[in-house]
Amino acid sequence: MSKRDNISKIIDHKLFTEDDIQQMCVSLGKQLTEDYAGKKPLVVGALKGAIFFLTDLVREMDVEEEIDFMDVSSYGNSFESTGNVRLISDLSTDVSGRDVLIVEDIVDTGLTLQYMKELILQRGANSVKCCVLLNKEANRATDVEIEYYGSKVGNEFVVGYGLDFKNCYRNLRYIGVLKPEVIAQTAE
Ligand code: 5GP
Repeated sequence: MSKRDNISKIIDHKLFTEDDIQQMCVSLGKQLTEDYAGKKPLVVGALKGAIFFLTDLVREMDVEEEIDFMDVSSYGNSFESTGNVRLISDLSTDVSGRDVLIVEDIVDTGLTLQYMKELILQRGANSVKCCVLLNKEANRATDVEIEYYGSKVGNEFVVGYGLDFKNCYRNLRYIGVLKPEVIAQTAE
């Protein structure tokens, strides 16, 4: 079965097209360029979902920046956060005194970003801010501040542009909503 046949079986509808996503990156990049003018931020991508967003975003930022990655997991293969955040792979950069910008695909409960923010602050960063592409507020369980986001989304499970379903479909160029029956079948 081709990738396209398979996708039509799981995606209910497109939520954001490639153009929509690009516009969000341009607009966030412009804002970040202004806010980080004269600074050399360390941009920390949350693996694996943020890879496409981070690469597009930093190319819209006209500032000298460094990039590093951290792999933090709270989801496994399910649709709901486990509530336990695990550090799977750490940064290789010393963050003390740095202005850190965490880049994440989507914020849901906020537990992942809260964990990352606190860890980086404990290590002596000068500032830590969060930039997410999608802001899902319905299940927020923390008061972590999201300084920058591309768009709010409802309480739906989205895939594509880095966001996975069972570790697949990250390479879709658009973001789509998973069919409710796929979620129901997986939960059985
Ligand atoms: P939080 O810690 O904020 O609850 O969860 C953040 C992580 O949950 C995201 O980085 C992402 O991996 C996952 N996540 C939350 N909502 C969705 C969603 O709608 N689709 C996908 N694919 N992942 C999601």
